[in-house]
Amino acid sequence: MAACGQTPAVVIGVADHGESDKIVTCYCPGLGKLKGIAKGAKRSRKRFVNKLELFSLLEIQYATGSRTSLVRIDQAEMLTPFPTLRRSYDAYAGAALICELLLNWTRENDGDDELFALVVWALTQLDQGQPVGDTLVLFQIRMLDLLGYRPRLHGCLECGGLAPAGAPYRFSPSRSGLLCSRCGCRQTGAVPDQASLSLSTVMLLLKAQDLPREKLSRLRFSPAAARESLTMLRHYGTYLLQREIYSWNHLGCLAAG
Ligand SMILES: [Zn+2]
Repeated sequence: MAACGQTPAVVIGVADHGESDKIVTCYCPGLGKLKGIAKGAKRSRKRFVNKLELFSLLEIQYATGSRTSLVRIDQAEMLTPFPTLRRSYDAYAGAALICELLLNWTRENDGDDELFALVVWALTQLDQGQPVGDTLVLFQIRMLDLLGYRPRLHGCLECGGLAPAGAPYRFSPSRSGLLCSRCGCRQTGAVPDQASLSLSTVMLLLKAQDLPREKLSRLRFSPAAARESLTMLRHYGTYLLQREIYSWNHLGCLAAG
């Protein structure tokens, strides 16, 4: 049965379809990932012009069909275009990574209000010129938590320690947790040296896991801490997804591959 609906939506993917249509993929709070066709979007000035763009926060009206998961997007109202992040290469690259992560991590009919709020928070941070590295670390550490893949950072998985003597720590993607330098040497399966974490970085990530979202922007990472964290998150995400996320390659020196 066909039905109509209305929802906030962040555009995470756009592609041309034929002469005049667009296929738009959104992330929505109640619905999760939603793929829709906007008929005449390349022609219709009134309904869609400049709205169906990557990163835009919209209120969309849609209709579902009975035979396909593709919905028909009938109207889109712009809530926030995030104009500033489109003018900075790094902010744009950071927002593109957020979209690609959502495309790969989320599913249709599997919404999460908190993940939606986190996406809007992260895009707002980038739009306001907050540090790209910090924003990407905070977004991903919280996203993993919401998806059920919270990294275990409270101590070494083997000896339980979290102290200067154990540094640098290494993160094991296959075990979702830390190994201290002593236990890490005896283990196989730990990631190479470039994904090591200093004790101060581990402490920052622990804070990032537990602070209320509205206080997250108080955390500040040094360039070294952001790089260590992002390298760890990149390795962990690649291990979990079993696939590369291309947008990492546009983030230059923010994270090692
Ligand atoms: Zn240990």
